[in-house]
Amino acid sequence: MLHQLYPYEFVDSVFTIDYEALKKQGFKAVIFDIDSTLVPHGRPSTPAIDELFQMIHQLGLKTFLLSNNSSERIEQFIRNIDTEFISIANKPNKDAYLQAVERLGVKKEEVVFVGDQLFTDILGANRAQMANILVKFLLQEGESKIGKKRKVEQFILKTYRWRKKYQHRLGNIEKKGEKN
Ligand SMILES: [Mg+2]
Repeated sequence: MLHQLYPYEFVDSVFTIDYEALKKQGFKAVIFDIDSTLVPHGRPSTPAIDELFQMIHQLGLKTFLLSNNSSERIEQFIRNIDTEFISIANKPNKDAYLQAVERLGVKKEEVVFVGDQLFTDILGANRAQMANILVKFLLQEGESKIGKKRKVEQFILKTYRWRKKYQHRLGNIEKKGEKN
């Protein structure tokens, strides 16, 4: 049961993922969650995130956004980023993941999903049988308390750390020493 909540990889942030290595492994597209993954909840994109998307596109990888938030929220985030999205995605339901794959025009096996929540992002990707990467969630400036759900996630991640066969299923795609 728990294995449905285990990510293929667990990395520090969207900036420490080795996208070139993903490309070499045959991946053609990256689907991102937005809130607490790319930016703190409700924030617009930052110049660093805009650059990250440009870099990913230059590598020849497609991108897509999948958010449970509204279209207004995504449009406010996306201003400088050229990418398609699905809003109110109803994660962890797998349907929107599969719709995204169809719109990307690639195979499900060629897509990797990146998000910050086990019970929505990672569970949904696993249900869709899509490779996935968990990133450490971003907090708002000044925010330090975490909720009950995050505490349960931390417990599950403890069990993940004991179960080596579930770790590094993408061959350890974290770039060490690179933080942003
Ligand atoms: Mg999120």
